[in-house]
Amino acid sequence: MYHYRRRFTREVAFGPIALGGYQPIRVESMTNTHTMDTVASVEQCRQLYEAGCEIIRLTVPTERDAENLREIRDQLRRDGIRTPLVADIHFSSRAALRAVEYVENIRINPGNYANRQKFSSEEYTDDEYRMELDTVRNEFLPLVKRAKELGVSMRIGTNHGSLSDRIVSRYGNSPEGMVEAALEFARICEEYGYYDLLFSMKSSNVRVMIQAYRLLAERADAELNHAYPLHLGVTEAGDGDEGRVKSAMGIGALLEDGLGDTIRVSLTEDPVNEVPVGFAIVKKYNDYHLVKGDRAHLPVKHVVESRQSLLPEPVPPFDPFSYSRRYSGTIALGDIIIGNDDVPRIETGVHARLSDIGEASREVLQRLVPEKSPDAIRSELVSFSVDSRDDLAHLDALLVRLGDVSRYMAASTEDHALFTELAGKVVKARLDIREAEMLDSGFLSKLDPATPAALEFCFIHEQTGERVAAEVLCHIAEKLKARGFERLFFSICSASTVFVYRHLVREFNERGIDYPVVVRYSSCQDGRIETLVEASIQAGSLFCDGIGDILALETALPVDEEVDLCANILQGSRTRMSKTEFISCPGCGRTYFDLEHAATAIKKRLSHLKGLKIGIMGCVVNGPGEMADADFGYVGSGKGRISLYVGKDCVEQNIPEDVAVDRLIGLIRERGKWVDPE
Ligand code: SF4
Repeated sequence: MYHYRRRFTREVAFGPIALGGYQPIRVESMTNTHTMDTVASVEQCRQLYEAGCEIIRLTVPTERDAENLREIRDQLRRDGIRTPLVADIHFSSRAALRAVEYVENIRINPGNYANRQKFSSEEYTDDEYRMELDTVRNEFLPLVKRAKELGVSMRIGTNHGSLSDRIVSRYGNSPEGMVEAALEFARICEEYGYYDLLFSMKSSNVRVMIQAYRLLAERADAELNHAYPLHLGVTEAGDGDEGRVKSAMGIGALLEDGLGDTIRVSLTEDPVNEVPVGFAIVKKYNDYHLVKGDRAHLPVKHVVESRQSLLPEPVPPFDPFSYSRRYSGTIALGDIIIGNDDVPRIETGVHARLSDIGEASREVLQRLVPEKSPDAIRSELVSFSVDSRDDLAHLDALLVRLGDVSRYMAASTEDHALFTELAGKVVKARLDIREAEMLDSGFLSKLDPATPAALEFCFIHEQTGERVAAEVLCHIAEKLKARGFERLFFSICSASTVFVYRHLVREFNERGIDYPVVVRYSSCQDGRIETLVEASIQAGSLFCDGIGDILALETALPVDEEVDLCANILQGSRTRMSKTEFISCPGCGRTYFDLEHAATAIKKRLSHLKGLKIGIMGCVVNGPGEMADADFGYVGSGKGRISLYVGKDCVEQNIPEDVAVDRLIGLIRERGKWVDPE
């Protein structure tokens, strides 16, 4: 919870490579060709290999596809491409038994592997439950035996949207159900002495996905013979920046927890695009191992002993297995309410210098009301850095020039005297406190509880322990609380954003402090993808755990992209839905229409339907289940054919692809959910 330590797992073979243990975190992808199409599949595998992809998965819907894996594998090996191949199995145990002969790893979905229809009723009696599990065992054991003989590893890959009736009847559609689904299969493997396993717990809901992996790590490590590696991924993450942000947030939150040995970023795009995003996500964690010493030279015993010598960690600052937002009191900044149940707000900093008043006011307006799409989410607070008396004078002039808009203006400084003056000018004044600085109590006692601005105290964390920032801010909060201050915010600027905020929230919880928290992340990344990834991991994972009342990013991105990034992070963490939520799968060999094109067309026409969830799925086999809680679904049902869903019900079957988007809009209208774009 409070510092990075990777969970040590059993090392599992993937042909020429391995994962888990001391191995680097691997980056995977999956083809979206038809596995029977040897030429296209080999070509896409080659492109993935050239992009650096370390493990390639192919879908195997039938025994014929399974048989064709041999040809694909042989062609790749002839060309010197030794990248491990994974067969992705849903439903067909026969396809699994063929595919296992030709691949390095086999992925099964416990939700649909060897599952039978319900015996009699909605609820399973204990006997019915046991009987079905016996059936599963009988059908699953031949695969386990063959995989063990061949030295092929297996991923037990649970998906939130495709749990079996058996599991749902007993555990609900929940992280508990996802974990139990995987454990049922893992127990069968271990009974047979087969330990080359890894797990995944995917969901399109990032919060559910994070909770399920954490729960699995806890339960599986307590019950099973080994700590098995984890394959991480957010399923149906979508495309573009949204897909990248969602994936980075879910995968990165778990990597910060020390969980995860291999990842897949799943995008509704060319799978080759997934690879650089994957490497951008794992880079920091793989570098960490190199920098902190190559522990691969140490015997396992040493690592176990050094783990035992660690002191027990303090209590977590939140429940890691279920979401609830941290409670905070509310603060009104003009017409904006912050804290408690209100959606997290967005604050952005202006890059222009205050002395350049024309440019500064232009940037303020851009951040508040984007020119391109006035109805899009905007930054609700805009902040300037004030370093001198000259800046203060320029700020006065700017506030006059901005007129009514100045009610959204915030400012920050490191100077105590300027801070006191700012508190009389802007809606929120922030004091940045450097580590080396001693904040004397005399200064705090001079602050006036009736000051017009809300005050924010931000600790600039650089080198001290991650707990120091929390202690300093708690000290300030307690002093000012005792003097009746109500309008206070607290924040920390740090490279270890996740950990310093966890410390802060724990200290606040223990001392009964409920001031709102501003999650600040200042990016030092140059690349666009790297910025997106790091901000999503560091800020996004906090919102997924219920921490944060304002999101404030400081990046080198252009104005509109920075505000979009904030909105995508809040949308991805489902703490603030500012646009339509698209749940779209990456497509695979089961897709028989142009999924990428359809996703683009649908997004273009439906992006303004704030709060609505639309599933765009490649096939009817898995799509309806996987799109989970979508309000409407657009699902491929055959060559150029689409089925439309309202919730879980299919309301139009096999309609031609070229009329399907119009019909989808018609359905949304009929259900009273349509609004015209502005
Ligand atoms: S839902 Fe999409 S990714 Fe999943 S099996 Fe169907 S087409 Fe493939």
